[in-house]
Amino acid sequence: MGQRIIVAGASLGGLRAAEQLRAAGWEGEILVVGEEAHPPYNRPPLSKDVLAAPGTPEEALAKLAFRPRRSATGIQWRLGTRIAASNLTDRTITLNDGEELGFDGLVIATGLRPARVEAPGPLSGRHVLRSIDDALALHAVLLPGTRVAVIGSGFIGCESAATAASLGCAVTLVEGRTGPMERPLGSALSAGVREMLSRRGVDCREAVSVVAYRGEGACTGIELSDGSTVSADVIIEAVGSHANVEWLQGNGLDLGDGVECDRYLRVLAVDGQPVPGVVAVGDIARYPDVRNGLPARRVEHWATPTDTAKIAAPALIAGIVGRTPAEAPAPLPSFWTEIFGTRINGVGSPALAEETRILEGDPGQPQEGVAVGYYRGNTLIGVVNAGLPASRHLHYRQLVLDAGVLVTN
Ligand SMILES: Cc1cc2nc3c(=O)[nH]c(=O)nc-3n(C[C@H](O)[C@H](O)[C@H](O)COP(=O)(O)OP(=O)(O)OC[C@H]3O[C@@H](n4cnc5c(N)ncnc54)[C@H](O)[C@@H]3O)c2cc1C
Repeated sequence: MGQRIIVAGASLGGLRAAEQLRAAGWEGEILVVGEEAHPPYNRPPLSKDVLAAPGTPEEALAKLAFRPRRSATGIQWRLGTRIAASNLTDRTITLNDGEELGFDGLVIATGLRPARVEAPGPLSGRHVLRSIDDALALHAVLLPGTRVAVIGSGFIGCESAATAASLGCAVTLVEGRTGPMERPLGSALSAGVREMLSRRGVDCREAVSVVAYRGEGACTGIELSDGSTVSADVIIEAVGSHANVEWLQGNGLDLGDGVECDRYLRVLAVDGQPVPGVVAVGDIARYPDVRNGLPARRVEHWATPTDTAKIAAPALIAGIVGRTPAEAPAPLPSFWTEIFGTRINGVGSPALAEETRILEGDPGQPQEGVAVGYYRGNTLIGVVNAGLPASRHLHYRQLVLDAGVLVTN
């Protein structure tokens, strides 16, 4: 029998891994196993245009579906199938129906699921936003005049608050401990985003969290930590995520925050040694920030599955055939978000900055055009720009690339 690589997870990371395995010359079997019934689709529009106007489920899926590269031939897909367990020593996975499958190589691409608000009260009326099914269910209740409470002011919270407001809903944003997108953007731009949301009618509640849900049977509102209450027909919980690692338990891995990897995305055991024949890609992978010489972390952005798959696929093949992986350029993280049509682009690692400096424009007016630089010491490690032409974004991207210190150890 020929050799087989199993790709666990059939979203962007799984798709890119399968494509990169073929691109790197893997001629054996590639089997992608995914829990969702849908073929891989694009998640960013789920909180933006597709949440605003999904059309029918078929139309939404058609808008979002990725087209695999033509060169990625002979990939087998097993969708609607959850992997329940794994044995990385015996090189097997166990599916939810009990079937066991062997592998020569394994790509871990099982991503994240939304965290939930831990507060007493009814469950009905509370939504999360990760999948196409979540977006369709949420869109159906975002009718004009509906009172919507969004809990959490990260990317998904701010984007869904803006989309709900644009649909005519009365939106309250419960920011939590930090302001809108403050962790990745810093306080100055965060205040600018709050201003953009407030100007379009979103009621931003600063420095408060939910302590309880109100209502009998269905949620009718929320109680906040400052003693105030907010009436709401629909709740959107956008309070972060958990990595889907449960199926990897019992293999001597550090699963505290995703899956720990080395710079080649090879999965590490708790003793720091690579587990033979296993790599991770996408949101679930915790890998060292080689560019800035900083410890391993997860990067939950759209570019990450592609960037990590390009490194992980050849490293996995090298391991299977007994070669040392070739050096690969460290990924430069990037992200974007969109609030009321203003695009905010980030490059590098702004969340790790010690200091921010305004490079152009006024962060209080992001829609008018602004760029903020993020520094560790005197090294520029990231830039976020908003409302600027693509040429300015490319200019700032190059500045970060030129400033980055490539640590090779
Ligand atoms: C609403 C939303 C908006 C976003 N907007 C942006 C944006 O504007 N910009 C940006 O940069 N990024 C954005 N992102 C982030 C981006 O979409 C993610 O970084 C990307 O989807 C990560 O891909 P992944 O394949 O690593 O993980 P995922 O997309 O989470 O895929 C993991 C897959 O594995 C499956 N799975 C889980 N457990 C198992 C199991 N045990 N067995 C089998 N299958 C399993 C899951 O069902 C899922 O299909 C957004 C994400 C969301 C949810």
